Amino acid sequence: MLSPYMMNTYKPAPVAFTHGEGAWLYTTDGRKMLDALAGIAVSGLGHAHPKLTKAITEQAGKIIHTSNLVDIPEQAALAEKLCKLADMDNVFFGNSGAEANECAIKIARLYGHHRGVTNPQIIVMERAWHGRTLATLAATGSRKAQAGFEPLVTGFIRVPYNDIEAIKAIAQHNNDVVAILAEVVQGEGGIVSARIDYLKKLRELCTQKEWLLMIDEVQSGIGRTGKWFAHQWAGITPDVMPLAKGLGSGVPIGACLAKGVAAKTFKPGNHGTTFGGGPLVSVAALRTLEIMEEEGLLANAARMGEIMRDEFQRALAGVPGVKEIRGMGLMMGIELDRPCGDIVNMALKADIFTNVTQDKVIRLLPALIINEFEAREIVKRLAPVIKAFLAQPQQAAA
Ligand SMILES: *Cc1c(COP(=O)(O)O)cnc(C)c1O
Repeated sequence: MLSPYMMNTYKPAPVAFTHGEGAWLYTTDGRKMLDALAGIAVSGLGHAHPKLTKAITEQAGKIIHTSNLVDIPEQAALAEKLCKLADMDNVFFGNSGAEANECAIKIARLYGHHRGVTNPQIIVMERAWHGRTLATLAATGSRKAQAGFEPLVTGFIRVPYNDIEAIKAIAQHNNDVVAILAEVVQGEGGIVSARIDYLKKLRELCTQKEWLLMIDEVQSGIGRTGKWFAHQWAGITPDVMPLAKGLGSGVPIGACLAKGVAAKTFKPGNHGTTFGGGPLVSVAALRTLEIMEEEGLLANAARMGEIMRDEFQRALAGVPGVKEIRGMGLMMGIELDRPCGDIVNMALKADIFTNVTQDKVIRLLPALIINEFEAREIVKRLAPVIKAFLAQPQQAAA
């Protein structure tokens, strides 16, 4: 239940947790629950990972915050690690996915102005999700999220996802475009993946037109799909890459990586933040990346994702109402033929925590540390819930 002292922005599920361990959560009323959401793709290491707890505790005992007015060695170490993993040149640290995308949008606009484009435009996708700040809300492709917050920030041109011709048509007559902003797997958009050939063509077109290719990996990055960043499945490198969710294992951090000319766009005074990339969050993020390497979590995410998809295909084969089971690595969606928000509460009763996006898509984003037993257990607990839900008589559209 939402506290009356809280602004009315969320409808929380009727459950609260006291603590967690790995892929398991313990509720305030003493139940043990399997976590198939990991705080929306945030807690990749699971809950209370001992190595991460130690790193955060030690750093908190040394220094938490200093500000970007001084060198922050922990931040520099994290920046170098991220740039090497992503083959990018440099990074700006903020505190959320929206802020990482704000940074990307500002880079694109400034890049445009440097080229003499006074009204720079960014191509964005239908059903995209980039955040809820005013600029990222305008870039987001959800009328539901935007409604009531007009006037929206201008400077965005929307096109259908996975449709290169739509972009080429704009390229023919519009000289104000400076960048394309897209996700590799639309997470909030219902776990919809870009085709590999589409990503390659985006890269080609951006190079040819001297547009920045900005790939929002806030949800799909940090190992979620079985590679460090989902675009690496297509063998391309973006010019700008916003990151957040899984980066700090729940300690709030966002990052915007840049390469080439995009990495040279900002000068002192162009952008900034009080909190971004402080010592505590930088240590949490750097340790997260190191632990992922030490424990082979990319390969694990790919393998556990395959097991879960296979098991769901088997468990839900021929069930009327199941439209598609899809996704990459541990970023999975099960699309039904009807709105299924009620599944979240039904699943809670079966001691499994999950989520529904785009009304009809059950979204699974478990921790990257799950083992084979837990992967199978997610299916074992959730498949009967899905079947029971679909067996109910359909209600008339509310
Ligand atoms: C969640 C998300 C965001 C916004 O991140 P916040 O931390 O909620 O601001 C942006 N882009 C994508 C792809 C996301 O999934």
